[in-house]
Amino acid sequence: MSNDAPERRLKGQPVSPGIAVGTLILDARGLNSPQIRTILPTELEQEWKRFESAIARTEEELRLLKERVQRISGATEAAIFDAHLLFLRDRTILAQLRKEMPKRLQNIEAVYYAVVQNFIEVMRQVDDPYLRSRAADVQDVLKRVLRNMEPARTPRVNAPSDGPAVLAAYDLAPSDTADLDQRNILGFVTEVGSSVSHTAILARSLGLPAVVAVPRLILDCRVGQPVILDGYNGILIVNPTDETREYYRALQVEKEKAYRTLVEMRDLPPVTLDGHRVRLAANVEYAHEYSALQRFGAEGVGLYRSEFFLLGNGSSLPGEEEQYEHYRMLAESCSPNEVIIRTLDAGGDKLPFEESAEKEDNPFLGWRGIRVSLSRLDMFKDQLRAILRASAHGKVGVMFPMISGITEVCDTLDVLDECRAELRERGQAYDEHMRVGIMIEVPSAAVMADVLARHVDFFSIGTNDLTQYTIAVDRVNSRVAQMFRPTHPGVVRLIAQTMRAGIPTAICGEMGGDISLVPLLIGLGAHELSMSMHLLPQVRFAVRHLRYSDCVAVAEQALLAEDSHTIRSLSRDLAKKAYPELFD
Ligand code: PEP
Ligand code: MG
Repeated sequence: MSNDAPERRLKGQPVSPGIAVGTLILDARGLNSPQIRTILPTELEQEWKRFESAIARTEEELRLLKERVQRISGATEAAIFDAHLLFLRDRTILAQLRKEMPKRLQNIEAVYYAVVQNFIEVMRQVDDPYLRSRAADVQDVLKRVLRNMEPARTPRVNAPSDGPAVLAAYDLAPSDTADLDQRNILGFVTEVGSSVSHTAILARSLGLPAVVAVPRLILDCRVGQPVILDGYNGILIVNPTDETREYYRALQVEKEKAYRTLVEMRDLPPVTLDGHRVRLAANVEYAHEYSALQRFGAEGVGLYRSEFFLLGNGSSLPGEEEQYEHYRMLAESCSPNEVIIRTLDAGGDKLPFEESAEKEDNPFLGWRGIRVSLSRLDMFKDQLRAILRASAHGKVGVMFPMISGITEVCDTLDVLDECRAELRERGQAYDEHMRVGIMIEVPSAAVMADVLARHVDFFSIGTNDLTQYTIAVDRVNSRVAQMFRPTHPGVVRLIAQTMRAGIPTAICGEMGGDISLVPLLIGLGAHELSMSMHLLPQVRFAVRHLRYSDCVAVAEQALLAEDSHTIRSLSRDLAKKAYPELFD
């Protein structure tokens, strides 16, 4: 199909490979009219305060966007945001709002929405085509302000679309991503985001092409435009020409063929050319993945993120019985391979454990992971008993997230022992030899690895959080995404220190599935790499084309290097020499 509109390419960061062709749909959150709530005259001041802080947040967002666009596209393009910033403090609108608030006595977002919509209607009716076209900008500012007023209550993404579609959104929460209707949404693109956010991780496990951090995305796109999303190179092509379509059709065929060839090698052991064996396991979030594990050659599940099952159904947590049935099914479908079930890791950028929980200023440093479990013992014990009982039906291991030191390890092991005793009393079976491990993802745990190793059977290094906490870079903040470097020498030395503790150690962060970094991780001593199952075929190919001795040499040099760039290059150069075909 040819079309007359010129082709445009918007560049972002690729976070999940693949190509999606379809029409663009927009995540319309914030454009829906907000719920109306009546307020008392005494609440007026409070409402103004909420409004002021939403305006301040929006102002900050727009300033950042302006800076970024200026850097990438120049001052002319960035000027649009000056208009947005001016509108945000528009005196006529604010005066109107002041007048309407005491008259209507409704929540301020409802009144603001009504006032701005009125303004938009007037703009749409004027003769001047330029002014008419600015109505979309005002709408955009309105959307941003509303989103900043009620971030927690915004409705989930819905995708009314008949044919294949690509979803564009300012941002997507992991729960939105999990909700996407994959029958017609073939990929997504967002204005903000980063490659190690849980949204990106879920995209990879769903096999959904995704691109994040595209400046001006929401402004520059319109619903219904034909698009191609290139998840390999991080490009959204709007109004592709026939030639571009043809190019992508051919690329898709070629990539799929190459990938199928790799998948067919699933039964070949992941052994280096000089005989060093590495285990390759899968990170799993969804039940539909269980049956596909063997197809991709997973030697078990290295990380089962149980929070997606536990918190995915909204209202209440499944009880012990329901969890037991679920983990049992998981264990049986992986048998004879092992499944490592990680206990609830709520908080951070994932779902909160309790909707009512106080909003935290620093959720990644707050009530997250094992801290939640140890303060909700009934819930924790339900999960532990369910895991123990499932261990009677297959090979199951358990591990604990966000461990920061020995006290948490000992407290957790005590609770586990209590659960074992309760099951013995009930006469219910479990595997006496179930392996018990901890995540190493907080720097203090890496530093103390030799001590912690005396208490558990294995470690699994969560490089996403380990990087975030070691170099103090928020893993989901696109403003600092450039600084998020798992090859930072500080992170690499902590990984090496963890390995020196001498117990079996896996890597289960996103770094483990990066073909450029496989040499470094093997050289540092990783026994197992665990990753989104779609990445397994290429990592298997990578392992089989490396020499362990070369990997060790790379790791030795990396531990002497001063910066992340040098470390990445050392590993990548070896990777490119050993398996150039994976870099085409
Ligand atoms: C990690 O932090 O690297 C990890 C594997 O855990 P999650 O991504 O679920 O926080
Ligand atoms: Mg983590």
